[in-house]
Amino acid sequence: MHAHPSSRFLFNTPDIELWPAALLRARSNRDARVLSLATQVLRRKRDGAYLAAVLPDGIVGLMPRWQREAGIDDALDLLDAGALRAPRAPAPDLPVSQVEARLEALGLDADAYAARTGLALVAEPAWLTFAGVDRYRRPLWLEARTARAWQGLHAAAARDGVTLDAVSGYRSHDYQLGIFDRKRARGLSLDAILAVNAAPGYSEHHSGCALDISAPGEPPADDSFDATAAFAWLTRHAPGHGFTLSYPRDNPHGIVYEPWHWRYRSAID
Ligand SMILES: [Zn+2]
Repeated sequence: MHAHPSSRFLFNTPDIELWPAALLRARSNRDARVLSLATQVLRRKRDGAYLAAVLPDGIVGLMPRWQREAGIDDALDLLDAGALRAPRAPAPDLPVSQVEARLEALGLDADAYAARTGLALVAEPAWLTFAGVDRYRRPLWLEARTARAWQGLHAAAARDGVTLDAVSGYRSHDYQLGIFDRKRARGLSLDAILAVNAAPGYSEHHSGCALDISAPGEPPADDSFDATAAFAWLTRHAPGHGFTLSYPRDNPHGIVYEPWHWRYRSAID
């Protein structure tokens, strides 16, 4: 019998995430029955597929051959280790060797890309904290201190009559690779994709320490955000909460100006 694990954490392995079942939408009637009894769901990171659910009396497969899924042993080890109930802060980083191998498979010269952009590979944390929901009512996952800081920032803005919307927080290497897979399947070249998407492994979103912010009625990830009252408020108050703009105008990485993208750096970093 499994004790009920905490429902406020996403536990991470290189290929598979363990989600609190209560935060997932059922995609079929069978899923709905299983999910209503489950504590955790094992999700393939590349496409979000539900592989299996953890019920009080055992694991129920949600896909054929889920036991042979790449990386399944790492995910099952986490369940066995009881690590889900008491994650130790700060979360350790997962190794980056897998994303390095996949960049090579994509045909991306990682060294040249890093040299050109001045960006480094960003590791994923071993677990993330539920930080509320984003503007689309999806769970917002962030690194633990970042989650706390974001909630403080959001509340402080609200007291000043400013509504901040989270648009996107943590994103995995595999999620970003999935974007590349889909665009290449549509015939886009690697260079064409890189012109609008960061290479998998090189986004600050992988760390769970960065999030994209918008305001009600504003389009996500748009330059126009810098003309809003929300942006003016952030410029003045975000640094006091540990958040800084990662890509201001004329940043040394050659990344376009991103007034929506903020990164948490605590005072001790
Ligand atoms: Zn961003």
